Amino acid sequence: MNGIRVAALYPDRMNIYADRGNLIFLQRRCEWRGLGFELMLCNEEKDLDPDATDLIYIGGGQDRDQIEIATDLVERKQASIRAAIESGAAVLAVCGGFQLLGHSYTLGDRTIEGLGICDFETRREPGERLIGNIEIEVSGLESLGGPGSLAGFENHGGRTYLGPEARPLGRVLKGHGNNGEDSTEGVQHGRVIGTYLHGPLLPKNSWFADWLIAISLTRPGEPLPELEPLDDQLEIAAHENARKACRS
Ligand code: GLN
Repeated sequence: MNGIRVAALYPDRMNIYADRGNLIFLQRRCEWRGLGFELMLCNEEKDLDPDATDLIYIGGGQDRDQIEIATDLVERKQASIRAAIESGAAVLAVCGGFQLLGHSYTLGDRTIEGLGICDFETRREPGERLIGNIEIEVSGLESLGGPGSLAGFENHGGRTYLGPEARPLGRVLKGHGNNGEDSTEGVQHGRVIGTYLHGPLLPKNSWFADWLIAISLTRPGEPLPELEPLDDQLEIAAHENARKACRS
């Protein structure tokens, strides 16, 4: 395959901190290498096609936005999302989108049902929002090299608690992570990734963007392709700055 097909879920509403910019970054990195990039925008009116999806993307959203899309996501998109994952598609879900990969998100006396693709739940609990710069150490991804660290920004009121079947995406080096207590951040289940790292997650962590492109070009079990190197001076500087911001 000489390109990737990305299905973006609810891009208008699940786009806090311009999380949609991650898609532009993936597109540019594909185009700079002469790889195809197809984007399908999916919402209440349009389901994704599991046979034509290599990567599913969902950004962050406020509680209100999550509540608005959750019913459609769980009742009408669940089958196609699961079918796409079954046939090897990758998933990147950020913040509010990440929370909806789990079993549920409880806010006061209201519980929003999630997709239950990963074993975790999220709860609003008394206490401050978990806000600030964050760096995590990632391990266990099929490796493409890269620094193994993701740096970015988090802002969430929900606290996520992983169940026994779930493994985190990484370990918190600086910042709060899933719940501010157990040093876990995000979730990784095969090619399904959830994280609280917002906004320019991929521009600040270009190695991770390339890892997503590489897995999206292949199916599980196939060797990852060598991607043509790009001039990443700016991206590397952005990564280093984001790491520094965590320590200032
Ligand atoms: N509504 C969720 C929370 O505050 C997610 C917010 C977000 O995506 N930034 O926990």
